[in-house]
Amino acid sequence: MYANDPGYEPTLPIFRCAGAGSYRFLALQRSLHGVKQHWCGQSLPCPGEHCCPFCREGMHPRFVGYIVVALPTNEKRILEVPHSSHGPFRTAEQNGALFRHVINVTKGNDKSAWRIEIEETQLAIATQEISGEELLDALARIHSLPRRRSFVDVALWREALERAAIARLTIALGRETSKASS
Ligand SMILES: [Zn+2]
Repeated sequence: MYANDPGYEPTLPIFRCAGAGSYRFLALQRSLHGVKQHWCGQSLPCPGEHCCPFCREGMHPRFVGYIVVALPTNEKRILEVPHSSHGPFRTAEQNGALFRHVINVTKGNDKSAWRIEIEETQLAIATQEISGEELLDALARIHSLPRRRSFVDVALWREALERAAIARLTIALGRETSKASS
């Protein structure tokens, strides 16, 4: 039912602040979107404790934040924010001070926590807000899960996402268990 073709859409890749350094982004959304994920050779979204095969085995998901940003080059990316760095984003979104604000991230070294400053931009820029649905759709594309455009109805899409995630996790769990028993 879902189209897996690369299609005509521009891609929206994930950006990770991988190494030490300073990073600067412009927020294109009003909030940070939290996604629970399990690691099984790749990250797979957790469909929720009530139906997740990994959670049922007592494996806890990690909670990762995502927000669409513009880089200084004006390219759009999905910024991945580790759980330990969600705080300043939550404060900014509660104050309505995230969208169209500049996010400065400094990392001392590869493993160190992010130092985050979120400030108003001095530039008069016309930025288009990216919806949560667009972000979720881009993440679905990255994980090869059903795409929004294949469904007329959002509720049906979300159900299909959940089913597909359960199926993928069940296969991954089978692999893990057979590895452990061999
Ligand atoms: Zn789970």
